[in-house]
Amino acid sequence: MSIVDTSSLRARLDDHTMPSVNREQGQRQVFCGLAGIVWLHRKIQDAFFLIVGSRTCAHLMQSAAGVMIFAEPRFATAILQERDLAGMADCNQELDRVAAEVLERRPDIKMLFLVGSCPSEVIKLDLAKAAERLSETYQDRVRVLDYSASGLETTFTQGEDACLKSLVPVMPELPDGERSLLVLGTLPDVVEDQFKRLFAELGIGPVHFLPPRHATEFPPVGSGTSVLLAQPFVGETLRALYKRGATLLSAPYPLGIEGTLAWLRAAADAWGVSADQVESVTAPAIARAKLGLERQRASLAGKRISFLPDSQLEIPIARFLARECGMELVEVATPFLDRQLMASELALLPPDVRLTEGQDVEHQLDRVRQDRPDITVCGLGLANPLEAEGLRTKWSIELVFTPIHGFDQAADLAELFARPLVRGALLKV
Ligand code: SF4
Repeated sequence: MSIVDTSSLRARLDDHTMPSVNREQGQRQVFCGLAGIVWLHRKIQDAFFLIVGSRTCAHLMQSAAGVMIFAEPRFATAILQERDLAGMADCNQELDRVAAEVLERRPDIKMLFLVGSCPSEVIKLDLAKAAERLSETYQDRVRVLDYSASGLETTFTQGEDACLKSLVPVMPELPDGERSLLVLGTLPDVVEDQFKRLFAELGIGPVHFLPPRHATEFPPVGSGTSVLLAQPFVGETLRALYKRGATLLSAPYPLGIEGTLAWLRAAADAWGVSADQVESVTAPAIARAKLGLERQRASLAGKRISFLPDSQLEIPIARFLARECGMELVEVATPFLDRQLMASELALLPPDVRLTEGQDVEHQLDRVRQDRPDITVCGLGLANPLEAEGLRTKWSIELVFTPIHGFDQAADLAELFARPLVRGALLKV
């Protein structure tokens, strides 16, 4: 295992060994952006997500989140019926009625998201206007925002990007002359707390996280804001933050030991923290992570893996599995490739990796059948047919439901891939 340093990363970026990309277009098989509500509603603890959609949307949310509901959930679907399609006035009245019901029942709610879906797109229901109207009605009590998670516009993780982008206009201004670090992308609280501790020990701060845990804790943004990306699927939010004056600290994503270290180093460089200080602060966590990874590496080294395009986490996770776990990358496919947001990651992939952007699902499945990798990372809908053909799979949705970022989660991340292999080996005996 090699630990990248930011100077060698810059050298890789300057040379021309970046992998080439095959582009594919065709039928896609992915979840829509509504899936993001499952992790966003757990993160922003006083927000409610009101999906304006159909029974299909309600069923998707139930099946995606159903097993994780222990208390009354903070999301619901206002179902558009055929009757509503006849008149827009009916639709708006119905939406106001459902919002009133939700807010009366849940006095703890401080932020209400109206979430657009395919049906609300199709009938051109103006949710921005509805959010404005409801904001006036409930001013001083609840902030009402809107975004679209329609399957016509978004895939799986793009719902988070659309949600976070809707927050940018309401973030307060960072006063001139002040600076701060903004970590962008949802992280589980336990991981956020680990990063907070590391930044504090490095003397980097103030540090804010977007999304915040509460609607009352919006981080400030301005020309003194340096953004570190925790997730690769927040490009639209980043562009909205640029317009507010923020700048990006380029780094690999904090997945695995070397990704996390390079990510922290990017912030340390910007804050003028010495390499020695970074080394001494991170050494105990790196030692723990190495120990944990060693066990998983025994199951993963030399095994072949293919990624179908789904979560946009494919490239950083492939980098981790290849460099720190010794896996062989057969194909790494991603739904979209933002070269700016992936530059530091692409520089760390093997230059001859088969990298695909976009999806033509039938062609991709044909390649998987031909390659017969030891494990294929894919969406829920494709996993069962592949398993039926004797191929081991890993659901990509688990990568956003499980804490995987940071040093202390490196072994857990590797274990997500080791487990199906070990199980497969037992079944063969
Ligand atoms: S938003 Fe569209 S794709 Fe998503 S569940 Fe609703 S109808 Fe289906």
